[in-house]
Amino acid sequence: MGSGIIGIYGFSRLWKMARFLYYGLMALQHRGQETCGIVTSAGNGNLYHHKAPGLVDQVFSEPKIIEALKGWMGIGCVTAMPEKELGKIQPALVEGPQKVALCFDGKILNVKELTGRVKPFVPQSEAELFAALFSRELEEKHPLDAMAELMKTVKGVYSTVILTGKGEMVAARDPRGVKPLTIGSFGFDYGVVASESCAVDVIGADFKSDLKPGEIYYFDSQSIKRKQAVKPQPSYCAFEHVYLARPDSWINGSSVYNARMEIGKRLAKENPVRDAEVVLGVPETAIPFAVAYSNETGTPLGLGFVQTGRRVRSAIKPTQFERLVGVQLKLNPIKTAMAGKKIVLVDDSVVRGTTTKNTVSLMRNRMGAKEIHVRVGSPRLVASCPYGTEVPPEDELIAANLTPGEVGKVVGADSFHWLSLRGLTDALGIPKSRLCLGCFSGKYPLPPEEGGADDGR
Ligand code: SF4
Repeated sequence: MGSGIIGIYGFSRLWKMARFLYYGLMALQHRGQETCGIVTSAGNGNLYHHKAPGLVDQVFSEPKIIEALKGWMGIGCVTAMPEKELGKIQPALVEGPQKVALCFDGKILNVKELTGRVKPFVPQSEAELFAALFSRELEEKHPLDAMAELMKTVKGVYSTVILTGKGEMVAARDPRGVKPLTIGSFGFDYGVVASESCAVDVIGADFKSDLKPGEIYYFDSQSIKRKQAVKPQPSYCAFEHVYLARPDSWINGSSVYNARMEIGKRLAKENPVRDAEVVLGVPETAIPFAVAYSNETGTPLGLGFVQTGRRVRSAIKPTQFERLVGVQLKLNPIKTAMAGKKIVLVDDSVVRGTTTKNTVSLMRNRMGAKEIHVRVGSPRLVASCPYGTEVPPEDELIAANLTPGEVGKVVGADSFHWLSLRGLTDALGIPKSRLCLGCFSGKYPLPPEEGGADDGR
């Protein structure tokens, strides 16, 4: 399950953080479009909450919903979780032994073992399990130490932000730092943690840095404290820069936009198309790739598609039907940009191949394109993600089962090229040893079976 999480802590009782959380979640909407929720606190022991299936502006469409979320601190989450049951929607809420609300992005790999520790409580989700474990640790420990303890016992990858009934906020990133988490502030008025720096920006705060892998931040009415609980062993998710994150975000010390421009440049160097008449990027992730490809080769850049309606990520839609409808809803081709032309079509990733095949067919058969040369800004996707990003299983991944030449034929392209793995790591400027490249290589930094991959349900 992919998620976007945010927590904001105001240092004055005058702040009403629900609206800020709402805008922060809007900025994180691309990380999950199935459910969302907000929990706030006014330091009086109550946790005010609202969560439901749907997009942020649908779930919080009524002003009275936001008004009822009282307090100067809060957390919020968007998820790509397909389940619609309220008990499973984040933020998770646990009443005892200590009242806790929690937002979680990641995957726990030893769920079965950990579930035994919270008996007789039966957690409905990994977020609820993490919240229950934290709540128990809080009985005897300061929140910083409670989280440090959990870092030793929870096997998996995660970024999390927690609100306690006492009006404290705790944020943490696992020792591998696979999932992003950034921190920012608005002077001495409020502190914010969020999956991506774009959410820090939209609420007017200044982005400060990433949380280091294994680092914990603690907020109360008097102070902010930090603790490096575990030695960092970075394995940053490389897919964030290719596809998952917004281009206006900074993640793991590098600009997503710059990384995407570098990817486009390297694509052009690895496999230029001679005598092409126009470069078209598939909106919207591949646009920076296409701009850089055009700059590098001197082939003019065109606008090939207009997006219709909301930005819906068709690759992560759960059914074949929705994927098909998603493609047609998403992209309206501009006929005059492609009719009779030799085109370089730049895309961000090719998962099952269905979207690319439909796009190429539409361009050739209905828009009259002469030649279509597909260039993909990610290396071959050959394995699923054991850490919660929605990469489908291997038998559904076109690159895992066919050679690049065969993929080109299946999608109907005149030529086809994936970015090389080396091209990606060079573009990110992060050493390979500090990256997770699991879905591109099948080699994972934390074995999926470590601690038992059984999720206990
Ligand atoms: S397997 Fe892929 S999507 Fe999952 S964390 Fe690693 S690089 Fe990211």
